[in-house]
Amino acid sequence: METRTLSGRHHFETLAGCTGTMTTGPALAPAERDRISTRVSIALLGVRSDAPVRRTGGAGPSDDGHFVINGDGAAIPLNPDSPYVVSPSGRLTLDGADLGFDVSPVSRPRFYDLATADGVAYDKIAKLHGNNVLATTVVQTCVRYDESERCRFCAIEASLQTGSTIAVKTPAMLAEVAEAAVRLDGVTHMVMTTGTSNGWDRGAKHLTRCVKAVKKAVPSLEIQVQCEPPADLRAITDLYEAGARSIGIHVESMDDEVRRRWMPGKSRVSMDEYRAAWREAVRVFGWNQVSTYLIVGMGEDPDDLVEGARELIEMGVYPFVVPFRPLKGTLATDVDKVPAPHRGVLNRVTAQVAALLQAAGMRGEDQRAGCAACGACSVLKTAGA
Ligand code: SF4
Repeated sequence: METRTLSGRHHFETLAGCTGTMTTGPALAPAERDRISTRVSIALLGVRSDAPVRRTGGAGPSDDGHFVINGDGAAIPLNPDSPYVVSPSGRLTLDGADLGFDVSPVSRPRFYDLATADGVAYDKIAKLHGNNVLATTVVQTCVRYDESERCRFCAIEASLQTGSTIAVKTPAMLAEVAEAAVRLDGVTHMVMTTGTSNGWDRGAKHLTRCVKAVKKAVPSLEIQVQCEPPADLRAITDLYEAGARSIGIHVESMDDEVRRRWMPGKSRVSMDEYRAAWREAVRVFGWNQVSTYLIVGMGEDPDDLVEGARELIEMGVYPFVVPFRPLKGTLATDVDKVPAPHRGVLNRVTAQVAALLQAAGMRGEDQRAGCAACGACSVLKTAGA
């Protein structure tokens, strides 16, 4: 069914045959299917619970509390109206029925209580994601943040405006925070993303300096970098040589029409440039150490999305499938009022992409660091990929 958002942009909220159950995914045991379906539902509807570690803005599509669910990190919306409740004994319930999931909110990490010598709180420099990932946006501004250019799902400068972060994290600051997060809170990997700069490197140069400094301070910490395709692909080798071992080059949708509508600025980086950057990244970082986000719920035909994922997998790139989530501070939510996708669509796409990943022997947890390794924002890990 095609619907129209308030801004006149249209998207496909539901599709024939998407009834909320997995209609065209691979054959699964009923218990397995229920488990994935429940994980999809809480990814979209959220849970009623407190979460001391949460994210309320920033780059990319997330506004969640961080939990450990059956041993895996999970980023789940906090929703006081959700029918899913985390019981005092740490079980996921629906109408009082136990759904078979252990859920524990991630505790506030100790490094959040520290500050640099000149008074910058560590939690303004980097945040804990899941229970073992340190995440930072090294430059919190983006050359594409003008309203006519901005990605409609992104709130990178919103957290800057509320004072919950600082505009530029220096290599020295990141090294200091990373050392403390490893020592005090057992962080095992780190994600460094960046707003896009005006230069040929599109932000990769500062990332390279930050990676070098963190690796020097904490050699054991695995790092994923995330950036747009640099105009000069040499920057990809520079990031690897600095010490990063995984890289995310995020396209969000491979459909040019969707890209123009949702990412007016970024869509001028052509799909050819993305493909060249992914190929070079696989050459440098290796098979299954490269990933990209694909967002379900931006109006792309789900079958096209799955075909895009197939192409990525054949290239050695992990398609990190996540649902679009409403997020205050974004144009998609504040202006367009775009809802989360229908759970049947997310269920089906997740199952189909998970089956392709399994057939290729590609697992997110085999990435050395980053979002695919963490898996908290996607249901792919629950689906066995
Ligand atoms: S998947 Fe990525 S963005 Fe989501 S919690 Fe993990 S590291 Fe953070």
